[in-house]
Amino acid sequence: MKVVIQKGHIIDPSQGIDGIGDVLIEDGKIKEIKIQNTEVRNKKSEIRSQKSNPPLPPFSKGGHGGIKDSELRTINAEGMFVIPGLIDMHVHLREPGFEYKETIKTGTAAAIRGGFTTVCCMPNTFPINDNASVTEFIIRKSLDGLCTVLPIGAITKVQEGKELVEMGTMKDEGCIAFSDDGLPVMNSLIMRRALEYSKAFGLPIISHCEDLTLSEDGVMNEGLLSITLGLRGIPAESEQIMVFRDILLAELTGGKLHIAHVSTKGSVKLIRNAKTRGLNVTAETCPHYFSLTEDAVKNYDTNAKVNPPLRTKKDIEAIKEGLKDGTIDVIATDHAPHHRDEKLKEFDLAPSGISGLETALGLSLKLVDEGVLTINQLAEKMSLNPARILGLLTPHLSSLITGPKGTLAVGSDADITILDTEKEVNVEASKFLSKGKNTPFDGWVLKGAPLITISKGRIHECQ
Ligand SMILES: [Zn+2]
Ligand SMILES: [Zn+2]
Repeated sequence: MKVVIQKGHIIDPSQGIDGIGDVLIEDGKIKEIKIQNTEVRNKKSEIRSQKSNPPLPPFSKGGHGGIKDSELRTINAEGMFVIPGLIDMHVHLREPGFEYKETIKTGTAAAIRGGFTTVCCMPNTFPINDNASVTEFIIRKSLDGLCTVLPIGAITKVQEGKELVEMGTMKDEGCIAFSDDGLPVMNSLIMRRALEYSKAFGLPIISHCEDLTLSEDGVMNEGLLSITLGLRGIPAESEQIMVFRDILLAELTGGKLHIAHVSTKGSVKLIRNAKTRGLNVTAETCPHYFSLTEDAVKNYDTNAKVNPPLRTKKDIEAIKEGLKDGTIDVIATDHAPHHRDEKLKEFDLAPSGISGLETALGLSLKLVDEGVLTINQLAEKMSLNPARILGLLTPHLSSLITGPKGTLAVGSDADITILDTEKEVNVEASKFLSKGKNTPFDGWVLKGAPLITISKGRIHECQ
């Protein structure tokens, strides 16, 4: 089947496209793009911005490639943005082992609803994804999922931080990065070796930066509020010490380092400095770190308990600045669904995490509204940059990732998000497709939402 998306405002940072036009999809791939009167065939020079908006000429010869109208599905995207499908490089899908929290099926349904066409799942399942057979299981299961699932392998066996996994065989099975997320790799020698191997395999090491000796038993940001609430605090230094250590190790090894969920002003500063020095370091933050301060836990609301914890206004400002100037490359969700009963425990005992897939785009579009990011930069942070970091911009040998992804270049996977930046949506956690209803954003009104998510040419309505 062929699909044509008509009259949308097409944004594709990978090709410098920013204009009204049509996209033709055929057999799950981008077949052709026309921007007003200009045919786009992978050449930036062909893109022209025009003030007038004349009718578009038909696709190829014979109108829509000579196919009959009945074989062509048309999507009217007038007034909408058409951007490369969102890629979330940090989710917890919980399968295998914790299916009561989430499954690959429910997690990918939540992803599609949130505008994501690809999600990368962290290895802290049960069993942990620390060997090729678990990777193979996740990939097999993901074939029932609605979007592409790319597994991230553990750095160390059983995430114990002691012995490296077999990165080569796990890469061959389909792992696209390595991380012990949920836990840091406390042993610097192990982290050094991981970065050395990752360099050889060309895959990133994603670091959950936390000095456990400083954060031990902490449940929220350390400061006046934690004292007032009588809760044990986690200082910003717990994150920053490890960010700094890992930057030094990336410099030592030349390995590819990606810092997960940046939450503090000091981390932004360290990463900015590393980038100025030309190091191979990238970073992500999550919507909750630029949307909420520690005040969200004032009522001991466990839905606002995350690791790293929510910080202060100053940190939020620094994170926005970091997103704006390119220090922070990626917005990821750290989607961490939990069962209701677990989050009902008292604050000290409740698990950390937010079910983030279905609110991430709306919360991030707020940054566009506030003038922190342009819509182009948003598409970079939520699609192009994750694709670049994970090596998805080129066609992939793996049948799972046929690719390219993160781009609307001709021949890429037809992964597209059509969004309406004006649509107002009430967040209703009880209606999430994710099994995890744990969100501090329940009841919020978000301006901007995905309307249609197209994953490898398959069309899904989001609203
Ligand atoms: Zn983490
Ligand atoms: Zn995580």
